[in-house]
Amino acid sequence: MLVAWLALAPRAQAAQLEQVLLFLGAEHSRLLLVLDEPASDVSSHSSPAVGSAPARATVMLDDTALASRLITPYLQRPGGAEMPVGQHGIKQLVFSSMGPRAQVVVELERARNLSITAVGDRAYLLDLRLPDTPPDASLPEAPALANWLAGLSMAPSKAHEPHARPRIVVDPGHGGWDSGAVGCTGTHEADVVLALARRVATGLERELGAEVLLTREDNTFLSLHERAAFANSRDADIFISIHANAAPAPTVWGIETYYLDVASDANAAAVALRENASVHTGVQADDAASRVLSELVVSGTSAMSRKLANEIQGAVVQNLSQLMGPGQTRDLGVKSAMFTVLVSTRMPSILFEASFLTHPDDEMRLRTPAFQRATADSIVQGVRSYLAATESE
Ligand SMILES: [Zn+2]
Repeated sequence: MLVAWLALAPRAQAAQLEQVLLFLGAEHSRLLLVLDEPASDVSSHSSPAVGSAPARATVMLDDTALASRLITPYLQRPGGAEMPVGQHGIKQLVFSSMGPRAQVVVELERARNLSITAVGDRAYLLDLRLPDTPPDASLPEAPALANWLAGLSMAPSKAHEPHARPRIVVDPGHGGWDSGAVGCTGTHEADVVLALARRVATGLERELGAEVLLTREDNTFLSLHERAAFANSRDADIFISIHANAAPAPTVWGIETYYLDVASDANAAAVALRENASVHTGVQADDAASRVLSELVVSGTSAMSRKLANEIQGAVVQNLSQLMGPGQTRDLGVKSAMFTVLVSTRMPSILFEASFLTHPDDEMRLRTPAFQRATADSIVQGVRSYLAATESE
């Protein structure tokens, strides 16, 4: 048995475990536990399989509670805190409260060497490696994760001057080790939204003569703040972030578009929580959001974002309804929520959720080139309508 300890300053108030990220390599995995504030003490141990009990890695977070809505890319079993993983030697994750402690158990096919490292001031990285195997270089390191958690400082926004051609930043969500939502048959959100974003970019250039910049052109990781900073520093006229949706229930399907405002309903808030999970959660995000929100309302950006969202959602739903036939398109409408990636942008910005990877039919549609082409063409049409309306105002 291996035991690792991190001694930390005691705190009177209970912390909350808010988010869990799992990075899987073949023989080496890492688990990032993100709290809203530091745990008073963190300990971990590794135990081999005994009888029918699997090998385990256990982390105990003292004076820590489990957040009522724990954010993770893995589907939780209804009503339970067990998450089946079933990949690369990780059987499942089990979360529980043991008095004043939160306990995280990683059930393993074989016992692993483990170590735990503080990441920033409120996250912990559990490293799980099979004995006598080399480290997996594709997994993120603690310093990179600390930068990612902290976010990058924003470039100051310049006074906006009109461009000869509309300058549009298209942002394929996620990428690299952040695969985003994972579909029923294993489709990664990061891959499908990159394909869709490329089609949108091509269409905007060809149909509207726009100058289009993609935040990422391949499967690399960018923090939400880097994406927003990219759009701000290039003085974009419009920012379009493209995502695919996920829901705890596999029956949920459809298309929705978001703009930045306070959440329009509980489901909208949940989508924002999941997408914001790529950077940080909790009070800090809300503070930043409300601070920037007042600026947005004053500048009129929020109303313009809502207009852009309405044009895009309307065009996508109308065109896909015609193309895909009856019962194949579901309009979930335009909604507002506090998306980190939108909070930080200084131009009309929307976040498009192209369908649900957690719904079998939606996942199939998302993978279909005809669906992608029609969706991309419709987004272009929506942008065209938006530009025409704003030019005439
Ligand atoms: Zn996403």
